[in-house]
Amino acid sequence: TTAKIDLKQYIRNIPDFPKPGILFYDISTLMRNADAWQIAMGRLAAAVAPWAPDMLAAIESRGFLTAAPLASRLGCGLVMLRKPGKLPGKTVSHSYDLEYGSDSLHIQADAIQPGQRVVVMDDLLATGGTLVASVSLLRKVGADVVGAATMIELTGLGGRGRLDVPVKTLVSYD
Ligand code: 5GP
Repeated sequence: TTAKIDLKQYIRNIPDFPKPGILFYDISTLMRNADAWQIAMGRLAAAVAPWAPDMLAAIESRGFLTAAPLASRLGCGLVMLRKPGKLPGKTVSHSYDLEYGSDSLHIQADAIQPGQRVVVMDDLLATGGTLVASVSLLRKVGADVVGAATMIELTGLGGRGRLDVPVKTLVSYD
C-alpha cells in the first residue's frame, strides 16, 4: 500500500547549491514521479483539511506548486504571496531580514475577507523566516492564520519554534 512509501527516496539532495556548503533538498525529482507526487499531495491534504481553511496562501515560487493542487483537492481558494513588482493592483507588503540584506512579500490588498481562515504553504521550512513573514503579512490584511504546512522540514534550524501557528510537515531532516 502507499501508506509505507517514504517520500524521502524521491527527494534529491544536491550539495553546494545555491552556495558552497549548502545542501539543497530538490523537490523536482518528487514532482517528476506521478505516483510520488500524488501521494505527497494526498498526505498534505489529509494534514491540512482538519484546519478547514477558506483559503490557502502560497509563497512564491515553490509554495505555488504545493498550494495549487491542494486548494483544488480541498475545495478552497488560493492566494499568492509574491516578490516585489509581480502583483497587479493595490498590494500590501511585509519586509523581513535575511542572512544578508532583506526581502519583502506582497499580497493583493483585497485578497482576504476579514476573518477568513487561511493556511500558508511553502515547499520547505528551514529557519522559519519566510513563513513568519508570511503570517505577519496575512494578518495585516485581516486573515485568521490557522496553520502552516510544508512538505519538508529541516528540524535543526528551529523554524517550527518561531511560528505561533500550528505546523504540519511530511518529511523531516536533522
Ligand atoms: P526559511 O525562511 O525557513 O529559512 O527558508 C525557507 C525558504 O527557503 C522556502 O521558501 C524554501 O523554498 C527555501 N529553501 C531553503 N532551503 C531549501 C532547500 O534545501 N530546498 C528547497 N526546495 N527550498 C529551500
